[in-house]
Amino acid sequence: MDRQQEYVLRTIEEKGVRFVRLWFTDVVGKLKSVAIAPAELEKAFEEGIGFDGSSIQGLTRVYEADMLARPDAATFQLLPWRGTDYPVARMFCDITTRDDEPARTDPRNILKRALESAADMGFTCYVHPEVEFYLFQQESDPEKIPVPIDSASYFDHVTRSTAHDFRRDAILNLEEMGISVEFSHHEAGPGQNEIDLHYSDALSMADNLMTFKAVIEEIAVRQGVQASFMPKPLGNVPGSGMHTHISLFEGERNAFADPTGPYGLSKTGRQFMAGLLRHAREITAVTNQHVNSYKRLWGGDEAPSYVCWGPNNRSALIRVPYYKPEKSQSARLEYRAIDSSANPYLAFAAMIRAGLAGIAGDYELPEQADTDVSLMSTMERQILGIESLPESLSQALRVMRESELMAEGLGEDCFAYFLREKKHEWREYSTQITTEERRRFLATF
Ligand code: GLN
Ligand code: MG
Ligand code: MG
Ligand code: MG
Repeated sequence: MDRQQEYVLRTIEEKGVRFVRLWFTDVVGKLKSVAIAPAELEKAFEEGIGFDGSSIQGLTRVYEADMLARPDAATFQLLPWRGTDYPVARMFCDITTRDDEPARTDPRNILKRALESAADMGFTCYVHPEVEFYLFQQESDPEKIPVPIDSASYFDHVTRSTAHDFRRDAILNLEEMGISVEFSHHEAGPGQNEIDLHYSDALSMADNLMTFKAVIEEIAVRQGVQASFMPKPLGNVPGSGMHTHISLFEGERNAFADPTGPYGLSKTGRQFMAGLLRHAREITAVTNQHVNSYKRLWGGDEAPSYVCWGPNNRSALIRVPYYKPEKSQSARLEYRAIDSSANPYLAFAAMIRAGLAGIAGDYELPEQADTDVSLMSTMERQILGIESLPESLSQALRVMRESELMAEGLGEDCFAYFLREKKHEWREYSTQITTEERRRFLATF
């Protein structure tokens, strides 16, 4: 038993913790949880907790179903919303086989492997996401169009509003769990909010995002509203993205910073960006994994549709945020395609691998786009070599299927499962006949 595990056992005793939840994530990004009694924890640390892996989406095949969940003591936290009468704690787990091999389809392991590749090149990777989501009046009937809880807009202060209380409660709970929040505000859509998490290493951040969604759902239930991370829940208002700021560090030094470089970006920063751009189409099925994600990407309202970059260009796929030269630690790139319905482990792994490929292959950064590329004609974009992001999940899957970067990055099993599962999602979606189609065509033909 190591020191961290001893600390966990001691804390459980001191606080009188009654349940310990072991958390992990399936391939499509759903949080899984099994509660164990504190008395079982020592054994869980030593041997892991056995479960049927074939019942978890994408984890394993039926003939090699027995898997182990191994709690990572560094992720131990109490769940503040469960109160202090019968305290409940949680830890994220790594999944292994019975022979103690890391499960190849465990998203946490897939991200860890990407971070190891970064470490082999001398880098640690930091991210900070801006998570957007909607708050709707509670209504469980998906046939009905959801009604936002307010009609406020970007940065609005709304007197006596649910949104303020909601964000305050969410932030207090997150901070109690050691997740610090940098900004929060009302977003442009009615009932739409944004909470930006303070940057941390990519693995902790993926864990934090899983926690974030659990916290938001918990507060929503408590306040009698419905929180939604759906990328485009309503057709005529902005979708919800999860712009993610990325930087690489070499030891204490930000490897993207060079105050003498263009826009304060170092060669490493430019190569990483070139990698993200060249492979953007290949990683889109993972950063934007639902049929609905493409309605956000192609629905306007500052969501990116084209593969280009710009300093301060909010229509671009990658933005280079301004930083003061004396604050060179904050040099970073903002990847704007990803939405908050993505599995953060897989999405971060894909983005990091794309960027690293740019460094390893010494990719040349294309010209920046300084105007709104969505206003250009197709011809103009073609002349400038600006490609489109995939227009649908189906198109994104076709591009991903041909991608060596994704096959290697996700590993054969996860790659194959993801493509299969998502093709299924596409098929189910394409066989639906919508009200709109009936309205337009039923009487016409
Ligand atoms: N909601 C927009 C998107 O879908 C982003 C708006 C913003 O944060 N500037 O990406
Ligand atoms: Mg923002
Ligand atoms: Mg925003
Ligand atoms: Mg942003």
